[in-house]
Amino acid sequence: MNESIQIKKDIEPARIYGKHAHIQRYKKISMFLIAVGAFIFFLVHVGIKIASPLPLFFLCFGTVTAGALLYFYQQYREAPAGIRHNNLFKTPLMSGGFPGWIIAIVLTWFYIVLYWFPQFIENWIALCDPLSMAIRNKPADHWFFYGTLYTFAILIMGIRMLIKYRHNRYQIIRTSSLMFFQLCFAFLIPAFLVLLNQPEYYFSYLWPLKYDYLFPAKIHSLFKSGGLGYFMVFWTIAASFIAVPLLTYLFGKRWYCSWVCGCGGLAETLGDPFRQLSSKRLRAWQFERYSIHSVLVFVIVTTLLLWINSLTSGAVLGSFSRSFARTYGFLIGAIWAGVVGVGFYPLMGNRVWCRFGCPLAAILGIIQKYFSRFRITTNGDQCMSCGNCSTYCEMGIDVRWYAQRSQNIIRASCVGCGICAAVCPRGVLKLENGTIRERYDFQK
Ligand code: SF4
Ligand code: SF4
Repeated sequence: MNESIQIKKDIEPARIYGKHAHIQRYKKISMFLIAVGAFIFFLVHVGIKIASPLPLFFLCFGTVTAGALLYFYQQYREAPAGIRHNNLFKTPLMSGGFPGWIIAIVLTWFYIVLYWFPQFIENWIALCDPLSMAIRNKPADHWFFYGTLYTFAILIMGIRMLIKYRHNRYQIIRTSSLMFFQLCFAFLIPAFLVLLNQPEYYFSYLWPLKYDYLFPAKIHSLFKSGGLGYFMVFWTIAASFIAVPLLTYLFGKRWYCSWVCGCGGLAETLGDPFRQLSSKRLRAWQFERYSIHSVLVFVIVTTLLLWINSLTSGAVLGSFSRSFARTYGFLIGAIWAGVVGVGFYPLMGNRVWCRFGCPLAAILGIIQKYFSRFRITTNGDQCMSCGNCSTYCEMGIDVRWYAQRSQNIIRASCVGCGICAAVCPRGVLKLENGTIRERYDFQK
């Protein structure tokens, strides 16, 4: 008996060491592949040229993709199913430390170059020419390059989500939905429309998130392109004014923010490692209410003024109408949604734009708070006040406060990501749809 215990004692460390060495080998290979891909990106940037960009495209995107997937596979493969955020706040990258700042600066630089100085990345843009020619029959521009990167990021990090949250059906279906809508509705369909000489149109982006879709200039240009253009205008109006209230009444804002939207898609996949960085302070919540509703008012006033101006043949804004529309695009579309919204993931969490700036989220939030069947129910008797739910709420909601009091969570900002329920070790939280009257039956 003692002998067998001794043998086991000898074997166990060797087995663990072997497993550890195995993981380290995977890690090194994956990091090597990512480094090779990054180096080729750098070479392309400084001007390396070969006869056809196609091999370079596959080398750049292929090696980074292979390296990232191998890394995630080895990272989560050995871990038992279940969400573990071990040592998250001891990892500088994920706790707002120095590496987080570096990534934030790089992302911010990228967005500034993309919006205002795309000529500096023309070699990267040209890298996407083969793909652009294949699906659009025209060379890539900086927005196609951005769309390609964006879609790759959601797909690769989406696979990471699928592996990480593999024990949770809600997360698997929701992540798959986000990947599907990004790939099909926000990348392939707009590209095929260009191929068919139709207006480039994103069916998964609704007004007022896609603010210019109800601007007079856009509507007039869509009308000019004939039957499909009329359908696109009809789609925007029907989706924004009928589908949004109806689906939000039935399912809460999660149907859009956590299942369809491209901004939400990037936040939930690329931004997942940073969700714990969202501020839970009262002042953040107070600022959030003012900022998000101010943007909503701004876009409504801008749209109305542009329409009044258009209907009065320029009597209101005169020749300023174009620059007026551009001001909104610059301040909200470029600075807020792009530079701050994504660039600050590693500093302020993954939902900076959704929480503080998105005008569509503001509308969805108002409907969710007052006219929706959605709520998160809590079983306070089971809560042990660990605080996991509050820590990982990307919208900065103090979920534990509600759980401790057995209160339903009915908050305008909740995007229904379900992570609070997924990380709760006691199964306290449940995302549900029910009658509106029952939502406010707080005490069980
Ligand atoms: S994660 Fe669950 S147990 Fe922990 S505080 Fe939140 S509701 Fe309570
Ligand atoms: S309360 Fe839960 S479901 Fe709502 S945003 Fe926060 S983590 Fe997601």
